[in-house]
Amino acid sequence: MYSSISESGTDMLVIKDPHSIRIHSLETFGTHDGPGIRMVVFVQGCQFRCLYCQNPDTLSMAGGTLVSIDELVRRAINQKTYFGNKGGVTVSGGEPLLQRTKLITFFKELHDNNINTCLDSNGRLLDDDVKELLSHADLLLLDVKHINDEWHHKLTGVSNKPTLRLAEYCESIGQRMWLRYVLVPGWSDQPEFLLEWAQHFENYKTIEKVEIIPYHKLGVHKWELLGMPYQLSETKVPSTEIKEMALNIFQQHFSNVILK
Ligand code: SF4
Repeated sequence: MYSSISESGTDMLVIKDPHSIRIHSLETFGTHDGPGIRMVVFVQGCQFRCLYCQNPDTLSMAGGTLVSIDELVRRAINQKTYFGNKGGVTVSGGEPLLQRTKLITFFKELHDNNINTCLDSNGRLLDDDVKELLSHADLLLLDVKHINDEWHHKLTGVSNKPTLRLAEYCESIGQRMWLRYVLVPGWSDQPEFLLEWAQHFENYKTIEKVEIIPYHKLGVHKWELLGMPYQLSETKVPSTEIKEMALNIFQQHFSNVILK
């Protein structure tokens, strides 16, 4: 149904244009993706195929616009006074790690200008470039979409093992993290798996916050516009009971849990 994105295809992009990032869109005063007020760069391309993806137009690596790193840094500097102590720049997606080598340059330049950096990722990749990129990220927002590999596969099209490996690596190096969990009735709200998810991470010292993001239907029209079948059309948004159940389970294992 969907074409897959190969790593080599991504590397081609790096070779062709090392000074530009392929982006989907830019948000100037974001407050949902990391601390404080942030410029959020939504990059183009993702190797996951989440059934609930609210931005299916970001999935193809062929779409989007190439924007130079210099231009993105210039915009961030222009906005710097609004960032305050906590804010800065977040790179989200799509999936940022697909453009990791360019993001190393971007984050380095932001740090040279004393601008806080945050990476929002599905955690699918872990190589030397990802490790270097993480060394320039002040915070990682890591989406761990299901603790059960079979369900993770059903929900995203891929295994959760690389994501769990990345989380483990981050814990080993002391990388600050916020974990994110999209709560989808019938797909990721099973109490036994919520408990397993919480128990998996409860002893991590690097996790500063856990964010529960209730499933919503805001992106459905985009699937229709793209002519892509939306498989969750019968799925309802989580009820108050489901949201509280998930919150209670997570709160028993983490001190800082936010229901968004
Ligand atoms: S990881 Fe994010 S961008 Fe990629 S398919 Fe899933 S929700 Fe969409």
